[in-house]
Amino acid sequence: TKLRVGLLFGGRSGEHEVSINSARAIAKALSAEQNTSKYEILPFYIQKDGRWLAGEAPQKVLETGVPLLESQESTSEGLTSNPQTQTLSQWQSPSQVAQVDVWFPILHGPNGEDGTIQGLLTLMQVPFVGSGVLGSAMGMDKIAMKMAFEQAGLPQVKYKAITRAQVWSNPCVFPKLCDEIEATLGYPAFVKPANLGSSVGIAKVRSRPELEAALDNAASYDRRLVVEAGVVAREVECAVLGNDQPQASVVGEITYDSDFYDYETKYTEGRADLLIPAPIPDAIARQIQDMALQAFAAVDAAGLARVDFFYVEATQEVLINEINTLPGFTATSMYPQLWAHSGVSFPELVDRLIQLAVERYSPS
Ligand code: ADP
Ligand code: MG
Ligand code: MG
Repeated sequence: TKLRVGLLFGGRSGEHEVSINSARAIAKALSAEQNTSKYEILPFYIQKDGRWLAGEAPQKVLETGVPLLESQESTSEGLTSNPQTQTLSQWQSPSQVAQVDVWFPILHGPNGEDGTIQGLLTLMQVPFVGSGVLGSAMGMDKIAMKMAFEQAGLPQVKYKAITRAQVWSNPCVFPKLCDEIEATLGYPAFVKPANLGSSVGIAKVRSRPELEAALDNAASYDRRLVVEAGVVAREVECAVLGNDQPQASVVGEITYDSDFYDYETKYTEGRADLLIPAPIPDAIARQIQDMALQAFAAVDAAGLARVDFFYVEATQEVLINEINTLPGFTATSMYPQLWAHSGVSFPELVDRLIQLAVERYSPS
């Protein structure tokens, strides 16, 4: 009998569209010749407002690649009468949910990559692909992540953790806070909400007015913020696959000609290039692979993660930037591309991830 894979995609995050594209690529891989006899796909789509859809509606999103908005969902023909179109909490008899043998959540960013969905799936007592609650939450929160990296002895940029309250609630504290940032980190600095992705809410600042505006803006996204010293570096990434004995892929590099790797550069066709393998010395690549595995363990990741680094060519220094526990998974995304160049094809990668989920749930 086939293993029924609950492909969970969409989600309440800014990376909703990326998730749809990742899910389409995974669905295609599950239907590829080597997988089709092993797996059956049960698609679940989370709309931008958080409503869960099962059955035909998610199938349609997978086919078209077009998000299903709340308004469309209630007006478009055929869907209003679909009894499967209900929110998770309204599911009186969640028959589709009960049929799932293994979940494949491919949700990026908040509400999907941060441990919330992983908590729900853990409570369901069904295996799922990727990191558990702790690894997901640690990988999403840039402050918690940096603390774990620090503890593991991984070099990173100088940073300062800040709360929204420090930015908004106390007009006397704020100038002192900015003074301190200027004195310890200098310019340029990067201001970031702690719990986001895709560069959303991130600003590169070069002056006091820019710093103040960026802090105010980042505080509107998250209670927790981080400010980092800016580095001039190449951006290199390494993919990790496995559970307790994970493997590291070849190292890849991202090149672009904007000011930094911002949202627009990430998601506008042709604005960024992937170089695999990265044209860097072998010893540096090995160091990066080693650091990627250490980072994976430091946050308790499982299944998969993409670990991103800054390579400061001038000093031959490698600094860890971040770990992403549910990286972009489209056919052209860095994570599957890194594995393709390491000898693991896309369909094989999807198969391995599902097997790792099952193994982790019931270690033999
Ligand atoms: P996200 O999780 O949204 O991808 P990152 O922390 O990776 O956030 O930052 C996004 C991009 O901003 C990076 O890929 C890089 O181009 C730039 N960047 C972030 N922090 C720094 C830094 N300290 N120095 C130089 N560039 C940075
Ligand atoms: Mg990230
Ligand atoms: Mg990043």
